[in-house]
Order: sequence, then structure tokens, then C-alpha cells
Amino acid sequence: MILLKKCLMCFAVLIIMAIAGTASAKSAELTGVNAFELDSETIRIEISYDGGKLYANDVTTDLSSGILRVELDNALPGRVNRISGTKIQSGAKDFVEKIIANKIKTNRTSVQIHFKSSLEGNVNFSLEPASRADKKDACIVLDVKKAPAQKNELILGGSNNINKIIVLDPGHGGSDAGAIGPTGVTEKSVSLAVSLKAQKLLTASGYNVIMTRTTDIDVAAPGVSDATELQARVDKAPPNADLFISVHCNAFSNGSANGVETYHAPTAVKGERLARLLNEELLRLGGLNNRGVKAARFYVMTHSKCPASLIELGFITNPREEKLLASNDYQQKLAQAINNAVNRYFNQGGID
Ligand SMILES: [Zn+2]
Repeated sequence: MILLKKCLMCFAVLIIMAIAGTASAKSAELTGVNAFELDSETIRIEISYDGGKLYANDVTTDLSSGILRVELDNALPGRVNRISGTKIQSGAKDFVEKIIANKIKTNRTSVQIHFKSSLEGNVNFSLEPASRADKKDACIVLDVKKAPAQKNELILGGSNNINKIIVLDPGHGGSDAGAIGPTGVTEKSVSLAVSLKAQKLLTASGYNVIMTRTTDIDVAAPGVSDATELQARVDKAPPNADLFISVHCNAFSNGSANGVETYHAPTAVKGERLARLLNEELLRLGGLNNRGVKAARFYVMTHSKCPASLIELGFITNPREEKLLASNDYQQKLAQAINNAVNRYFNQGGID
């Protein structure tokens, strides 16, 4: 009945528009996208437009992997094409990397706001002016909350930690250096240093920690196949192990690649939760690009009997991150992030 009414109304509107000589409702055209810091916790993005009117159901938002995608129906990019027409004000420059607008379909425009740092994850939007009486320019207002500033606090274990077995797997080792940074820092040394520091913290938190290696060695033997080496690591986990965490550094041919990513095996629900907590805690260190929580079929994850995650602490091939990864202080912070994620895994609900 309601549907029928709506249809009749649409029909009436069409007739009125036809009489008025208008073929269809006019699309809005974007006139600018402006990002600024609203307060210490919030980045506000204003997408202004004219020429047509947009309604709440014309707007869809999605925030993932550090990109806020705003899709607008009945809107065209207008002069906000690509990067021109967008503005990132000084207070927002530490958080917003770039803004891109483009037409994705007839009458559908996508605006993508790329963030440099971590966000809390929820986006609120409103449409201005709220009423006709308001003489404001028409715009869509989006508020994004920054992630809480780094809490340099150690989360110690709760009562759920006792008897839990955590396997830490420092990636590479011995004959396999892993990736090597521009000044020669090796992935195998960073993964080991961070894992040893995490072992100390986790042991203090009450866990039983098993290391796949504690020195610079091949876990199986030098020169064996990758599968043999990786299986030797998986085999270090006792049958009743609770978590398996493999620690690595990322590498790319282009030295500008940067940021943190964490992995879980496809469809591994508990592994995904572990990877997400590790990602959140690593991002708390601040200033890191979030490359996201991803599914992949890495050997140690698909062959582990318990929930498993592989973490890429940062890019050893990026000069800035290589320096961080090699520093004792930063390694301690990374270890703390691993410790905190494990503690949250066992003490923050969602566990059967
Ligand atoms: Zn690696």
C-alpha cells in the first residue's frame, strides 16, 4: 500500500516536472572537498555541491584499509576532478594523505579520502543545510574519529592467561636473512629481537611462551626447502598450543612502500580476530600506515593447529622504517603491541 502511494507520488512528480518542462531532476555537482581538524579527536570532511539536492539515501560510506569511500548518487564530480578542487588544511595534513573524486557511473560519484594514520572506524555523516531556513551552502559533512593517541601502557594479563601456550616464530634466521634494508639491517635480526622482547613481556603476563628459535639459526637445517623449514617451525608448537604468531618485516622494490599489515588464514575466524587485535595494537604506536588485516595462505598459518597470525612489522626496505625497526626502543614498543594484543585476545570476551 505504501509502495503504491509512493509510486503514485512519483508519477505525480513526473507529471508536474513534465508540465514544467524539466526532463529529470538535476544532478548535484561537487564544488569542493575540504578536510580539516575539527577538534583533537576528529577529522571533518566537507563535500560541498550545488546544482541539485542530495538526500541521506544518496550517500554511502565505507571505511576500510585506511580509505574512506563516499559514494554519491545523483552527483557528478564537477570541478572536483581527481585532486583539483580538494583541500587538506594544515591541521589535517598529518592524517589525510590525499583526496580523489571521480565519476564511477552515470550520475554516481566516488570520493576517496586516503588516511595516513589509524582511525577508530566509525563515520558519521550529516547533510547541510539541515533546514531551508539555513542559508548555508549545501554540503555533506563527515566526521571521522582518530584512533586514541598512543597509550604507552602495558596491558598485563588477566586470570585467563594461566596455562595458555603462545608460540612466537621469529621469521627467517641462519642461512636465510630474509629481506635486507638499504643500510643492511636484516629481517631475521629484527624479527628475533622483537620476538625475544615479546617473549619476556608475555612470560611476565603469565603465559607459557614457546619460541621457534632464540638465536640466529635455521630451525630445520640450512639449505632445506621452504616447506621443510616452515614445517619445522609449525612442529615447535605443542598440540595444545593456543596461539601461533609469526613475526616478519615487509619488503618492496620501491623504498617508499611503508606500513603495517597482519595476516590470517582464509576463513580462520579466530585467526582473523588475532590478526585484527595485532593490527590495532601495532597502529597504536602511531604514525604508521595501516595496510590492513588480510587473508593469505602462508604456510605457517595454514598448517598451524591453533589460531595463527603473521605480522609484517613495517617495511625494512623503507629507510625511515628500517631505522625504526633497528632501534631498541621501537622494538620494545612492537613487542609491547604483541603482548597487548595477546592479552586482549584472551581477556576481552569473544572466546569460547
Ligand atoms: Zn619474512
